[in-house]
Amino acid sequence: MIIFKKRIDISNYIVNYKKTSGKIGFIPTMGALHKGHISLIEASKKTDTLTICSIFVNPTQFNNTADFEKYPVTIEKDIDMLEKAGCNVLFLPSVEEIYPADSSTTLPYELGFIETVLDGKYRPGHFQGVCNVVQRLLDIVQPNTIYLGQKDYQQCMVIKKLTELIQSPTQIIVCPTLRESDGLAMSSRNMRLTSVERIKAIRISEVLLFIKQEIKPGNLQDLKQRCINYLTNEGYNVDYVEIADATNLILLQNWDGKTKLVALVAAFLNEVRLIDNRIVNED
Ligand code: AMP
Repeated sequence: MIIFKKRIDISNYIVNYKKTSGKIGFIPTMGALHKGHISLIEASKKTDTLTICSIFVNPTQFNNTADFEKYPVTIEKDIDMLEKAGCNVLFLPSVEEIYPADSSTTLPYELGFIETVLDGKYRPGHFQGVCNVVQRLLDIVQPNTIYLGQKDYQQCMVIKKLTELIQSPTQIIVCPTLRESDGLAMSSRNMRLTSVERIKAIRISEVLLFIKQEIKPGNLQDLKQRCINYLTNEGYNVDYVEIADATNLILLQNWDGKTKLVALVAAFLNEVRLIDNRIVNED
């Protein structure tokens, strides 16, 4: 695996690679890699001739300084995992490489409704920061395909919107969420959980399965409230438990029994914010 730290070096490499008929697959990450990230590398390896991963803890998408400062960094282990997965290129830039002093910005992105709900509401500025870094990374890497995890359901929709706004030719592939054997969605932030919190963390995926089992056409308010109460009693500080139209994330109070639904949860266990989601009416 070739490791580039400088934007100019990876750009030169990509300009040359683009002269071949190869296909570039790109997996942007913030590091502290786990099997969920590696599943995205594997998805790219199946169809692309060059798989590029980036590791960059993007300061502009953190609306909480403590969360940024405590974000786990495990770079040696990450490099080892990427090597073993057969990743071809790692881009490991500094903040100055991504945000040089003389760089211009296209902020704010006109993301519309998608930025006003769920994490958009609870993490102001977060998705502007995501778009800012993803546009910069797309400009540098120029991938044919970008691989994203369903774990960050709203982020996938935001990045789709970004590619439309900037008229990027990059195709988006959303890959399934990888889970621990007890159902907890894999996440870099899970490393920050104490052993007691780790046991409680499975409540989030339990709530999503509960919604999947219990959902019926009609009013959804009672079901959502029962889930919020359950998590609160378990010691969570809940940002939201919501049920939305899976195609556009419009939050639903009533279900017609036909619309494809996604249930989404965001809640704090002490300092650690966990998010997860599930498509509800699907096997
Ligand atoms: P992150 O490093 O958390 O920014 O995530 C980088 C990419 O990995 C994003 O597209 C995430 O949605 C994806 N990802 C994170 N966790 C998982 C998971 N458990 N399963 C699949 N993909 C994931």
